[in-house]
Amino acid sequence: MVAEVTGSRASATEVRVLAIAPSAGGIVDFSPSPRAEELGDQLRQFVDTVVEPATPTYVAQVRDAGDPHFHPPVMEELKADARSRGLWNLFLPDTVHGAGLTNLEYAPLCEILGRSPLAPEATNCAAPDTGNMEILHQFGTPLQQDQFLQPLLEGEIRSCFAMTEPWVASSDATNISSRIERDGDHYVVNAHKWFTSGAASPRCRVAIVMGVSDPHADRHRRHSMILVPFDSPGFSIVRTLPVYGHDAGGGHAETLFEDVRVPAEYVLGEEGGGFAIAQARLGPGRIHHCMRLIGAAERSLELMCARAQQRVAFGKPLADQGVVQNNVAESRIEIEQARLLTMKAAWLMDTVGAKGARFEIAAIKVVAARMATSVIDRAIQLFGGAGVTDDWPLVGMWTYARTIRLADGPDEVHLMTIARRELRKYEGFRP
Ligand SMILES: Cc1cc2nc3c(=O)[nH]c(=O)nc-3n(C[C@H](O)[C@H](O)[C@H](O)COP(=O)(O)OP(=O)(O)OC[C@H]3O[C@@H](n4cnc5c(N)ncnc54)[C@H](O)[C@@H]3O)c2cc1C
Repeated sequence: MVAEVTGSRASATEVRVLAIAPSAGGIVDFSPSPRAEELGDQLRQFVDTVVEPATPTYVAQVRDAGDPHFHPPVMEELKADARSRGLWNLFLPDTVHGAGLTNLEYAPLCEILGRSPLAPEATNCAAPDTGNMEILHQFGTPLQQDQFLQPLLEGEIRSCFAMTEPWVASSDATNISSRIERDGDHYVVNAHKWFTSGAASPRCRVAIVMGVSDPHADRHRRHSMILVPFDSPGFSIVRTLPVYGHDAGGGHAETLFEDVRVPAEYVLGEEGGGFAIAQARLGPGRIHHCMRLIGAAERSLELMCARAQQRVAFGKPLADQGVVQNNVAESRIEIEQARLLTMKAAWLMDTVGAKGARFEIAAIKVVAARMATSVIDRAIQLFGGAGVTDDWPLVGMWTYARTIRLADGPDEVHLMTIARRELRKYEGFRP
């Protein structure tokens, strides 16, 4: 099997995939491990019987507080409950700080979390903290881990990631223009950011900021990342940006860092390593979004099918209409396709690392967000007017899916990555 690909420009990853693909002997196994299966049962039980029934309380507590970013007491109760069940930090493969699950084991669990907007935070598996914890775990010094990673792992604080800027096309990370300048034993941060998700949470205590530390270095060595505690003088939140009219749960903030002085030991990794850390952060972050989106799509399909059986129009249940059956079937097919590609990407991350899986991660980021927007949209249509109200979770799930076509890199950038790889194989045909 390997010999078949040696004549082309197949990468080491492709060779390996083909070498152990089912057609070559069948050792790819996507069935869950006994531990993942057990955790999956427990998680499903927790989400269905504890988190979902608590959702109206969460909504009421936020509403009564009069602040969309209020942290309601019920969330702390859910967190304590999840932790007592061992459903905590499931995303982190590390056995000391996390649950020690592989990406493939985590995939079906994360899918279950995607069924509920509250479940990720309740289990300390919510973005953007998960990505931030991952890079603190991977690149943080003992001091940084002690001050920031530990309280994040405990669920005591929250964090945000400040890369995107209003005045430059931030889908190209090398455009980031904020400054992080060395001054003695400090760095001075001057940055104007936006879409800093979670910054408006009263529990958000630290931002990971990306900026230029050496404008003369190579494009990919110009940037650094630095930890900026929220109580640093010069840091402020300008406003939160409503997304499709919604502003909640820590929001997406426009943030200013004006001459913020930060101790030099708060640089994450090495100076000039910002671009590489951004790449490292996005691998797991992207695939986790995909896993949650599959869960959201699966739940929408469940709601669609139940509603189609119950609702009678023109003398028969909607489920008896051919067009409805078509939509149900298309949705099932799309979910299955997306799930298989997500699991392949997860398996590659486990076997050849996030770098070796980057094309599959790029592909699934496009596929999962498109799939979820179309499946959830069909469910909204089937629900009639009710579908566009907040009486059902469909609007929130659709909004999440639609924004993921932009967040963590727009579709076009991932398509560009994949197309370049494909076309490179045929460079020899150029005149
Ligand atoms: C809900 C939400 C949450 C977010 N959370 C965060 C966060 O926590 N932290 C953070 O730093 N950022 C966050 N972002 C920002 C997000 O990562 C950026 O919006 C994204 O990277 C695109 O950057 P941009 O908005 O500057 O768009 P631009 O770079 O201006 O791009 C605009 C459009 O140009 C097109 N385009 C770009 N490149 C190409 C190409 N090569 N080929 C063809 N077309 C192209 C795409 O259609 C793209 O959407 C979030 C965004 C959203 C919507």
